[in-house]
Amino acid sequence: MELLSIIVPCFNEEAAVETFYTHTSAVCETLPEIRVEYIFVDDGSRDGTLSVVKKLAERDGAVRWLALSRNFGKEGAMFAGLEHAKGDYVAVMDADLQDPPDLLPELLETVRSGEYDCAAVRRVDRKGEPPIRSWFARQFYKVINKMSKTEIVDGARDFRLMSRQMTDAILRLTEYNRFSKGIFSWVGFRTKWVETENIERSAGESKWSFFKLLVYALDGIIAFSTAPLAIASVLGLVFCAIAFVAIVFVIVRQLLWGGSAFGWPSLVCIILFLAGIQLFCIGIVGQYLAKTYLEVKGRPIYLLRESGGGDNHEK
Ligand code: UDP
Ligand code: MG
Repeated sequence: MELLSIIVPCFNEEAAVETFYTHTSAVCETLPEIRVEYIFVDDGSRDGTLSVVKKLAERDGAVRWLALSRNFGKEGAMFAGLEHAKGDYVAVMDADLQDPPDLLPELLETVRSGEYDCAAVRRVDRKGEPPIRSWFARQFYKVINKMSKTEIVDGARDFRLMSRQMTDAILRLTEYNRFSKGIFSWVGFRTKWVETENIERSAGESKWSFFKLLVYALDGIIAFSTAPLAIASVLGLVFCAIAFVAIVFVIVRQLLWGGSAFGWPSLVCIILFLAGIQLFCIGIVGQYLAKTYLEVKGRPIYLLRESGGGDNHEK
């Protein structure tokens, strides 16, 4: 029988894990002719998430768990899950039921039919989210899609179900700075988008502050576009052109009227302005250099402290 692996990254989800499992396993029982394994990845939680998961594993042999040595972030946790998934189909879901398990049968059918390699969920609205956050999110998608050749779909969740082939492709992208929305799209394959409304989390609270999201967005742009680097070159050319016009102007004025040594305040403004632009451009280059530095170190994306469960399959 075929196997479906459901990967659930959990960070301080003590309050949500049990409900997630109850809802999802109820749906999975209705799935025809497939075995299911759950892989809960405890991403260095500081609450009782791991003990809740271990209890689930005692009750149900289909539950496996991986505990990371510290908080590596959702991207790291997801990668850990993908590496350990044995399924012919692999699904990624949030622990807070914002990814409705009711969609699983539809996703599975889509991929199983062979017509698509991946069925992914995107939300069509941002109901229940602070308006400012939604606005920034929309701007982010506009900017990144202008800058990057990889299409980043607005509202795409990480909730998706993939074939083994696509999972293996994703595992070949071992970059340290992971931006999944881009990685899923970069590997290609045929993806069907299933639309759903925004659902608010069942329990606990979001791990993403506005600032964290902003940094994540910038990381995404740097990871999937080199367009910002071109800004420096373009600005350089623009200012060279301006300087050329200014030189001609100054020479002509000197020849015609003579004595043109004035305008010190405006000179100071120009120098400050250009210094600002230069530092800004060096900053952009620095960002890419920093990311390159982290990649070159070749550190592992996550470290495992312990793992277990899955008695159904391993023994
Ligand atoms: N998560 C994680 N590590 C982190 C942050 C989040 O594994 O450092 C998990 C979290 O437990 C949840 C999923 O990623 O299952 C999505 O997180 P959250 O619901 O906080 O994000 P939001 O839905 O608000 O975007
Ligand atoms: Mg959530």
